[in-house]
This record gives sequence, structure tokens and C-alpha cells, in this order.
Amino acid sequence: VAADTGAPTIFDKIISKEIPSTIVYEDEKVLAFRDINPQAPVHVVVIPKYRDGLTQLGKAEERHGDILGHLLYAAKLVAEKEGIVDGFRVVINNGPAACQSVYHIHLHVLGGRQLKWPPG
Ligand code: 5GP
Repeated sequence: VAADTGAPTIFDKIISKEIPSTIVYEDEKVLAFRDINPQAPVHVVVIPKYRDGLTQLGKAEERHGDILGHLLYAAKLVAEKEGIVDGFRVVINNGPAACQSVYHIHLHVLGGRQLKWPPG
């Protein structure tokens, strides 16, 4: 289980394109790319390009409202692009007890199969 040390993460290297990824959507504020270990036929990770202290949602402050809203909007654009807008799930794993492994806030956009509830 990973801990939130505030150190740079692998996502910085994905943003700088030092590590290749399959980009699904990109604008000036966010990047969306395919998860390397997909849990559904569509599994896209959406991240802010500038982390601004948001290692995890639990660190959010009022100033983060704009980027948090934009991340959610980008998730919808990804769902549209991927053809799953009629049925998809957005997940944020927050902290060790939720198995967060990368401490650069991110949304998972999942779809393309029947998603069970509760997820477990
Ligand atoms: P978390 O477990 O922190 O909510 O999600 C982190 C996600 O990032 C995991 O689903 C993991 O598969 C994905 N991931 C980790 N490293 C890489 C990488 O180098 N490339 C890509 N495309 N995804 C990654």
C-alpha cells in the first residue's frame, strides 16, 4: 500500500511524455490516458496537469474547485468519446484504505461492460 509523501509521481512523467501513454483527451488543464492495467474494456485515467497540492481528494481546498469541476467535466467528454456515455462509472480512490497507488489526484472512467454495485 502506497503512502502520500507529496513526492513527484509517475504521472508527472506521463504529462511530460517522458513515459508514453495512450492519450484519449487533453486540454490545457487536464490529461486523460488509458490505464495500463485496465479493469474494464474502457478504463481511462483523468488527471490535472498541475497537481497544486492535490495528491488526493482528501487534500482539497476551496481553491481547487475549478480544477475538480473540470476533471469531472473531462470525464464526461471521455465517456462521450469512448462511446460509453449511456453507462459509465467515475471513481476516485482516496488514500491507503481505498488502495490509492499514485498520489497525484485522478479520476478513473470505467465502462464498456456491466458494472456491479456495490463494487467491493
Ligand atoms: P489508483 O490505484 O492510485 O487509484 O490508480 C492509479 C492507476 O494508475 C492504476 O489503475 C494504474 O494501473 C495506473 N497506472 C500506474 N502507472 C501507470 C503508467 O505508467 N501508465 C498508465 N497508463 N497507467 C498507470
